[in-house]
Amino acid sequence: MRKYKYLIIGGGMAAAAAVAGIREVDRAGTIGLIGAEAHPPYDRPPLSKGLWKDKPQSSIWRSLEKTALTLNLGRTVQSLDTKNKTVVDEQGTIYTYDKLLLATGGTPRRLPFGEDHIVYFRTLDDYTKLRELARNGDHFAVIGGGFIGSEIAAALAMNGKKVTLIFPDKAIGSRMYPPELAEFLNGYYREKGITILTDSKVTGCAMRQGKLVAKISHGSNSDEKEISVHGVIAGIGVEPNVSLAAAAGLEVKNGIRVDASLRTSNADIYAAGDAASFYNPALDTWLRVEHEDNANKMGGFAGVAMAGRTVAFSHLPFFYSDLFDMGYEAVGEVDSRLDLFCDWKTPLRQGVIYYLKAGRVRGVLLWNIFGQVDAARAIIAAPGPFSPSNLTGRISA
Ligand code: NAP
Repeated sequence: MRKYKYLIIGGGMAAAAAVAGIREVDRAGTIGLIGAEAHPPYDRPPLSKGLWKDKPQSSIWRSLEKTALTLNLGRTVQSLDTKNKTVVDEQGTIYTYDKLLLATGGTPRRLPFGEDHIVYFRTLDDYTKLRELARNGDHFAVIGGGFIGSEIAAALAMNGKKVTLIFPDKAIGSRMYPPELAEFLNGYYREKGITILTDSKVTGCAMRQGKLVAKISHGSNSDEKEISVHGVIAGIGVEPNVSLAAAAGLEVKNGIRVDASLRTSNADIYAAGDAASFYNPALDTWLRVEHEDNANKMGGFAGVAMAGRTVAFSHLPFFYSDLFDMGYEAVGEVDSRLDLFCDWKTPLRQGVIYYLKAGRVRGVLLWNIFGQVDAARAIIAAPGPFSPSNLTGRISA
């Protein structure tokens, strides 16, 4: 039996931030961290961005205060007993806690074929595997036009690889970008040498005569073709890891529900990061956010709260991406189904995109504009009413 004052389930960025948060308040209380990966916590964003440019792999590790901290790595928690305040891992080891944090993250969605031939890109091991494939191969199929698909396709192309990017939408990032920007990105990726297959799905992936073959269907007809590649990478979304919380009877609704103190429906159990669902006052809605800033801020606040200091989590997380030499920071509901107003400084190259609903700004995308996230947050929090006339020029580069 391993006894800890603070037990953290999860070994990602939210978990690392929670360790720091606990230590801000309690210098000595024992902390146990249980992580499914064999690695200690690391920063995930460089796996699809900086490590493919000039960032060294040694820079990803999170610095953790080692005092009274035990990392139980390569272990997966199987059950949580809230009455006896214990958890049990797959090796049968029992852990006890006074305060527990669920920082369980998410699991990539999988396709019903392809088995281990498809890299569902999420972890450091996935990065290592893809690096190895890229050392020996030169043509890669990337499935999905979201964050992973757009970043990994760019990363591979920047490293001289031939890339075929396949997704069911009309354009890269259609869920987020205004149609003209998404369409521009299709063209930009093509200019960089990437083959873009829109309105398309990979329907099979198998080894044939020593070659990896991906079968692709286009549109609603049965127009199918095959390509031979050295690797297939998929980024088709993640599912939050909530089964442990649900089986323990905690409230789960698109994530593990937490209050402003980041407590779940059980007073001794907290949740943070990709798996947690929280209420955001500025947007007056429940959110579950799968990005770095959310993991870091929420994890930190949860650690502080677990150690006994009162917190009120009202942070509106931002996110960012790198697409070749372009990039952005964004905050709030960046959803292309809302009313959009593009305040371009230079059309499609630099500008602010506002996402509006009923006269309020719900989200802001700062396209090739950096360091203005707080200004964007202030606009989201303001009552408005907003329209193109009073938003034009409001945030400058
Ligand atoms: P994602 O951004 O949600 O994108 C998933 C994409 O896959 C969507 O475009 C979706 O299309 C498409 N898709 C769904 N089913 C498909 C299928 N069967 N075949 C082809 N495409 C399919 O998720 P992700 O790219 O996998 O990223 C995983 C997680 O990592 C997300 O939580 C993301 O936020 C996070 N992440 C964040 C960053 C960042 O903040 N910069 C970078 C990397 C990863 P539809 O929209 O049409 O369903």
